[in-house]
Amino acid sequence: MAKVQYSGVRESRTGRINDLGTTGKEAEENFKKGCLKRADRSFAQGLQCQQINSMAALMSLEDAVFISHSPQGCVGCSIMAVDMFRVGQAHRGIKNIRNPRIIVTNIDQKSVVFGGEEKLREAVKKAVERYHPKLIFIYASCASGIIGDDIDAIAADLQKEYEAVIVPIHCEGFKSKICASGFDAAFLAINEYILKREQLPKEEGLINLFAPTTISYADQKEMERMLSLLGAKVNYIPFYSSLEKIKRIPAAEASTSICKVFADEFMKTLWEDYNIPYSHTVMPIGIRNTDKWYRGIAEVIGKEKEVEEIIAREHERIEPLVEKLKKRLEGKRVFICGGTGRSFAAAALIDDFGMELVGLETPTYDEDAQVDIEYLNGIHKDFVLDIANMQPFEQVNLVKKLKPDAFIGVPEWAAKLGVPTTHVLDGKRPTMGYDGLLFLGNKIADQLENPGFNKKLAKHVKLPYKDSWYEEDAFKYIAGGN
Ligand code: SF4
Repeated sequence: MAKVQYSGVRESRTGRINDLGTTGKEAEENFKKGCLKRADRSFAQGLQCQQINSMAALMSLEDAVFISHSPQGCVGCSIMAVDMFRVGQAHRGIKNIRNPRIIVTNIDQKSVVFGGEEKLREAVKKAVERYHPKLIFIYASCASGIIGDDIDAIAADLQKEYEAVIVPIHCEGFKSKICASGFDAAFLAINEYILKREQLPKEEGLINLFAPTTISYADQKEMERMLSLLGAKVNYIPFYSSLEKIKRIPAAEASTSICKVFADEFMKTLWEDYNIPYSHTVMPIGIRNTDKWYRGIAEVIGKEKEVEEIIAREHERIEPLVEKLKKRLEGKRVFICGGTGRSFAAAALIDDFGMELVGLETPTYDEDAQVDIEYLNGIHKDFVLDIANMQPFEQVNLVKKLKPDAFIGVPEWAAKLGVPTTHVLDGKRPTMGYDGLLFLGNKIADQLENPGFNKKLAKHVKLPYKDSWYEEDAFKYIAGGN
C-alpha cells in the first residue's frame, strides 16, 4: 500500500480538538468514550497564525533569508522570535548581534488582482544581491494562497538561476487553527527541498535533538549535558544551526525533541524515509517529565541501565533542594497557560513543589494530551480545562473566578489582574532538565513572595472587559463539542 503523505495540517489527524471548555476528569472520560467532538467558538479573539511558527522555527539558521510572500502585517508577530534570536546570540557570546534577514513582498490590492509573482521574483533577486545566502525560505500567506501564486513553480524556476537552496513553505494561515501546523509545514519543506530522501552513512552516537526558538541557551546546554552522559553526540537543530547541520539529519542514529509538539510529525517522517528511530515523550520540565524524557531517548539508543544510574545520581543531588523549595510553595493554587508541551509539563512540575492545579489552558487536545491528562488527574484534584489557542477573554474570566495564588505561563493578562505570574515560555532563563527545575521553582517562589509589581500593575491598568463578563460562563461562546 502506498505511504500516505502527511499534509502538514494538524487537524487532519483524527481526534484532535481545538476548542473546548471542560474539566480534566470530564475530558479524560469523554475522550475514552470517543465523545470528545470538535467544537468551535461563536466569538473568538485572534489566533496565533501558523506562518509565524514556520518562520520562528528556522529564523536562527546561519546564512538564511526569509521571504514572506504576504502583506506587511503578516510578519508583525515575528517580533517575539526576533527577540529570542537576539537574546540567544548574546547568550552565546556573539558580540555583533544581528536581526534575522526577513523580506516581505508586500502583497497589496494590485497584487491580489494581477498576481504577486513579480514581487516574489524581485524579493529573491534582492535577497541574493544583498546577503549572498545559502538558504532562501519563501513563506506562503493567506493572501498568496488565496490569489493562487504558485510559490513551488516560482521557486523551481528561480533555482535554475541561483546557487542558494530555495525552499517554499506552505504555511498559509487559513489552513490550520493549530499553530503547531506551522512547524510541520517547515519540516515537510526541509525534507522535500534539502534532504530529498537521500540516505547517508550513519554516524555512531549521533542524535538529532530538535529544539524550537523558545529554548534558552541554558536549556540547550543542560539537554546536551544529559545526552552526553549517555555517550551521545548531539546535532542540535534547527535552532542556531546551519544548512550543514540540517543536511546531517539523515546520518543520525536516533532523534528526539525538546518540545512535545515540535518535530514530532517530522520524527515520524525521518523514521519512514531514513529509518531513524525516535523518542516522543514529554517536555523535560520537572522531575517526573525530565526522567520520562531521559528514559525515552535512552531506551531508543539502548542505554537503559546507564540512564537509571544517572537518574539516581541526579535525584540524590536535587531532591534535598526541591524539598527546600517545597517549603516555600506547598499548597499554593496555580493556573497554567502555555503551549501544549509546556502547559502539561508545568502542570506536572508544580506537583514536585506540592502545589495544586486549579486551571489549565492549552491549545489542543488529542491522544498525546490524553496521556498527560490521565497522569495529571492522578496527582491533582479536578481542574478546569480550557482548550484554546489564545482567547484571553476566557482566561481572565477563569482567573477572576478561580482566584489562583500563582499564574504560570503566558502572563500578560493575569499580571494585569494582580496575580503573581511566572513565564514558563522562557527563552532567556533555564527551565528544563534537573538544573532547570530548581531555577524555575526559585523563580515561582520569588514571584509569589514579591507580588508588588503585578499588584501595582492591576491598580493602574484596566482590562477591556465589562464587569458583567466576569459573571458569565467563561465557555459561553463555545458551540458544540458534546
Ligand atoms: S498568513 Fe494569514 S493568518 Fe497569518 S498573519 Fe497573514 S493574514 Fe494573518
